[in-house]
Amino acid sequence: MNSKEREQLKENPRSNFDRAIQNRDIATCLVKTAEIHGHYCPGSAFGVMATLMGLKILGGNTSEGMEDLMAIVEINACFADGVQAVSGCTLGNNALVYRDLGKMAVTFARRDNQAGVRVKIKGNLREHVDRVQPEFFPLVEKMIVDREGKPHDEKAFREKGRQAAFALIQHPFDTYFETQTVQAGLPPYAPIVQSLVCPGCGETVMVTKTAWKGEKFGYCRACAGAGIPNVDGRGIGQDFL
Ligand SMILES: [Zn+2]
Ligand SMILES: [Zn+2]
Repeated sequence: MNSKEREQLKENPRSNFDRAIQNRDIATCLVKTAEIHGHYCPGSAFGVMATLMGLKILGGNTSEGMEDLMAIVEINACFADGVQAVSGCTLGNNALVYRDLGKMAVTFARRDNQAGVRVKIKGNLREHVDRVQPEFFPLVEKMIVDREGKPHDEKAFREKGRQAAFALIQHPFDTYFETQTVQAGLPPYAPIVQSLVCPGCGETVMVTKTAWKGEKFGYCRACAGAGIPNVDGRGIGQDFL
């Protein structure tokens, strides 16, 4: 990155994405998504496409919207990274809502208007991918389902994933997606809450996340032995430490 580009990004960190979105430059969006996602795959390509389609219908851009534009994503897989990268709605800026439905779909809405655009995949996801790269899903089954993939397969998996992703984006969005207008059901702004110091571990913890330990209040959930809600590859669950 040269210094001019860095200065531009200091001014507007979303400028590269905004330009790619405006130019309908799907390949650049996919490449930039892979910077955070770590590989190319059909899921992230679909996330990129669904986001470009949804944002076009919703209108506006993605850089003014720290907490204005919201995305509600229904799957915690590769697709979600395409959504986060291109829309700029992320777990960290509280513009992302995760609904644990296990569907390749995303809803975009603005804070001032509950009317959202839901973009959902049409029909059978696997058939879409098989049509552009029939070797991809058999490799997924080998790599992910069996966990028996050898180093050779890992390389093939990455290669076929990349081929599938770049082939998918050649097709019009409505080959794979359809949209509907929905009531988004957006949450209120993320509250700014006080923190306190947990008497058990001495770590600072948001007061809204504290729990009772016997008669005493103000412990973090780990010290209190309370269940800790989490999101992992299985969806929303609960951990006990
Ligand atoms: Zn992926
Ligand atoms: Zn603690």
